[in-house]
Amino acid sequence: MQHRPFGRTGLKTSILGFGGFHLLEIPYSEAEFLLNTYLDAGGNYIETAASYGRGESERKIGRAVSSRRSEFVLVTKTGERDRVGCLESLDHSLDHLRTDHVDVLLMHGVGTKRDLDQILAPGGALEGAEYAKQQGRVRHIGISMHGQPDVLLAALHAYDFDAVMTTVNYYDRFNFPEIENALLPRAQRAGAAVILMKPLADGLLWRSAENAFRYAFSRPVSVVVSGINSRAMLADDLRFAERYEPLTREQADQLAMSAPELGTHVCRLCGQCLPCPVGIDIPEVFHLEGWYDRQMGNGRVDDTTEYALRERLKHWFGNQQLARDRYATLAIQADKCTHCGACTPRCPYGLEVEAKLAYADYKLAGRGIF
Ligand code: SF4
Ligand code: SF4
Repeated sequence: MQHRPFGRTGLKTSILGFGGFHLLEIPYSEAEFLLNTYLDAGGNYIETAASYGRGESERKIGRAVSSRRSEFVLVTKTGERDRVGCLESLDHSLDHLRTDHVDVLLMHGVGTKRDLDQILAPGGALEGAEYAKQQGRVRHIGISMHGQPDVLLAALHAYDFDAVMTTVNYYDRFNFPEIENALLPRAQRAGAAVILMKPLADGLLWRSAENAFRYAFSRPVSVVVSGINSRAMLADDLRFAERYEPLTREQADQLAMSAPELGTHVCRLCGQCLPCPVGIDIPEVFHLEGWYDRQMGNGRVDDTTEYALRERLKHWFGNQQLARDRYATLAIQADKCTHCGACTPRCPYGLEVEAKLAYADYKLAGRGIF
């Protein structure tokens, strides 16, 4: 399996990382088997969090593979925001993981400017992480968040984080284009490792798993983390990693543009529907719809399984208010549409642009559509 530099840390990590959240769903004996099989296959990145099952994921990892501690990069996360809480959380994590240090401690789920200010402030969690680093209990410090990356970008400006963990997949690239366009280049310039999460968009891309992993591995990231909870899934993920061949930029673009999961509902932000005679910035409206619910709600129930999955995932990232606030600043919102009919025939992806605009306006401004 290919290994890549983990930013400027001097570590090297396998392109496939083992995410520990889903260890909560399986018995210990199965977790032990999966973790050891992953290490035997050349994987060397295992990640968990203090909050996963209140330490249960960490406990399973510690029990299963602490005897092989030198073989892997161990990453955990703290959701605490102050120094004391961070150090207490780390004490528990090291105890659960049966080790004297983690290679990376991530500030977990830093989703708002307020969260970021808290961890950066005197007496904040970062101060605790730095103290633990001086003691050798933490080797490197990083930060994580789903979805819209403004806070992560601000974090990289404010502090030299060694690693940043973010969502990247070919579905959400059209909902959060700022991640690939701004956050990844910023992290690269800063020498921070990028930890990619959600290569299958929380399972939405399960029918196209090999393509989704190939897309993820082809991004400028150090490691692609997969939450693994079965032997079949581990075998698939290892196979994808072992036979991975990079996509060219054109191939990646083509894959994303033509992916069946995007269908005739997700806007590719191409702008070919413009100009609109009343000045509606159609791609921007759909971009904000992406922030709101990842363009997953389309008002129809064509396939109940697919519908249930989308309903479960659509607000996973919690960016609804941010989307509504940004939409409120648009000078011309979608309710100004005069239904001239010009945009829909121009869309090369078959989107019913007028109807989708009305639905996006309903989500973002609460105006009725029926
Ligand atoms: S149908 Fe509405 S959104 Fe489309 S071009 Fe005409 S006015 Fe603009
Ligand atoms: S043409 Fe279609 S895909 Fe392109 S920006 Fe307009 S609505 Fe989106």
